[in-house]
Amino acid sequence: MRALPYLLVLAAALVLPYVSNDYWTLIASRAAIYWVLVSGLNLVVGFAGQLAIGWVALLTLGAYTTSVLVAGTVTPVVPPYLALVAAGCVGAVFGVVIGLPALRLRTFYFAMTTLGFATIVTQVALAWQSVTGGGIGVSGPVLPAPFQTGRGFYWFCLGLAALCTWMTANVAHSRFGRGLVALRDAEVAAEACGIAKGRLLVTIFLFSGALAAIAGGLFATLQSYITPDAFTFDLSVLFFIAILIGGRGSILGPLLATILLTALPEFASPLVAWSTFLYAALLLVIVLAVPGGIAALLDRNSRRPLRRDRTIALRPDLLPGLLDRTARGGTLALRAVVLAFGGVRAIDRLDLTLDAGLVHGLIGPNGSGKTTTLNVICGFYAPQSGGVSLDGAPLAGGARARAACGIARTFQTPRLIGAASVLDNVMIGGTIAGTASFVESLLHLPRHRRDEAMLRDAALCALRCVGLETLAAVRADRLQHSELRFLEIARALLLRPRFLLLDEPAAGLSAEEIRRLGALVTGIARCGTGVLLVEHHASLIFDVCDRVSVLNLGRELAAGTPAEIRAHQEVVSAYLGA
Ligand code: ADP
Ligand code: MG
Repeated sequence: MRALPYLLVLAAALVLPYVSNDYWTLIASRAAIYWVLVSGLNLVVGFAGQLAIGWVALLTLGAYTTSVLVAGTVTPVVPPYLALVAAGCVGAVFGVVIGLPALRLRTFYFAMTTLGFATIVTQVALAWQSVTGGGIGVSGPVLPAPFQTGRGFYWFCLGLAALCTWMTANVAHSRFGRGLVALRDAEVAAEACGIAKGRLLVTIFLFSGALAAIAGGLFATLQSYITPDAFTFDLSVLFFIAILIGGRGSILGPLLATILLTALPEFASPLVAWSTFLYAALLLVIVLAVPGGIAALLDRNSRRPLRRDRTIALRPDLLPGLLDRTARGGTLALRAVVLAFGGVRAIDRLDLTLDAGLVHGLIGPNGSGKTTTLNVICGFYAPQSGGVSLDGAPLAGGARARAACGIARTFQTPRLIGAASVLDNVMIGGTIAGTASFVESLLHLPRHRRDEAMLRDAALCALRCVGLETLAAVRADRLQHSELRFLEIARALLLRPRFLLLDEPAAGLSAEEIRRLGALVTGIARCGTGVLLVEHHASLIFDVCDRVSVLNLGRELAAGTPAEIRAHQEVVSAYLGA
């Protein structure tokens, strides 16, 4: 069903040469070549949210690499297919080179570095006359039979474009694609789920760079002669805009937009000089009228109204099926932890011990350091002195390492991916449980399929536990606040945590929902997971906690059983009030 629109596009592409002329076949070849580049760039821009606007640099690199190798002016003559592969390798390397700044720079700064790179590549192509022919240029390669004719070349490009569509769709529906979207929309939550930002982005830049350079080789073949001014900034803008018009996080949308943008100037041939203007106008219209792009227009599912009178029917009895592997005891301990922001000591020599299978309440006034304590345990902050240990062994590393140790968390304000489905949001929590490599996912190999089935089953089970399974296919940004809280817990459960840290999970919930939350928390602890519950609702704390610590100004004011805390003079007067 999901493949139907793609098959329709493919069918149209297959009949095109028979119902039109050579000229349109040539335009269609160009669209296919552009799509080979855009499909890869889509993962960078649309999925990972990196503003790589100078991606034409890789098209240029690929075009020159292929042409120069095939011409044999510098090296021995290389066969065209081999030259394309070589271009792909060069593109992969430079894709990473262009992409690396993304690990440090954000948005505009990264966009500018990609632009700078595009300028450098063009200038080098102009200046390095002995290899590139400078302003005079070089002739492009010619593919051997049967692909040497216009129509034959079209079949070649179409085949490659179809392959790219399939591969990028595989990535999109894998833990890698979901991880990219998570990094784009909820980076902190992605790290807490154990997603390795650096490695994932480098992989994507590598893949996307390779595709762009291969597209460059085909582009040179199509043009049959290339000079540096064939690679204009307009072209780079076209690639970028195709993704924005198509819709972020979609594959079909950018595919249709690429076809549209390639064909548009042909229909408006008197307006060719205006093509940049047309793109800009089209972009403005789309961004203002349909921010989600073509993909949002095509997505009927997200417009279907949801039931208004939804209640969350929790099933804590299903938890053992999800968490069974976590029943293994252990303790998580903070010893004399100090963390200061400037002059403020957010945590001041704090000791805290969490035991597997118990619910530990952490209460205290606003600003007393509760969230900061969670951030220290999760590895977002490194304490200035003291340390965190798991089963007696000190915990090192950042958030990702802590997730790998089985420490999961939720956030004071839910951090979810609004544009992804509820099911995908939960599956993101299980990212590190996957075993398939990127290439296995790219090619839809058995290990990838096993991963997907396993993650999907676990996610559905987690959704059933928190009573949201009927909403699995719905976009997360359509949920109510209380549902988002439970959704975040489901995501955390997918890590099969040994320790689960909940930051004010009852905030914004109704009394009835708080009662259900209490049952869920108790159920989770009974499966052997240690729970740290940061809360303001005294009733919830005293109902479900086995132990309670009270913080004030980053220090422990009191600790003990709920009964002891309730009777503690200082706590009652300072915090619990009347
Ligand atoms: P709580 O969660 O108990 O309400 P927090 O742990 O969020 O409190 O904050 C404890 C103290 O640390 C507050 O005084 C807060 O202003 C300060 N703080 C927390 N995070 C930061 C930060 N990233 N930079 C500077 N100060 C911070
Ligand atoms: Mg807080």
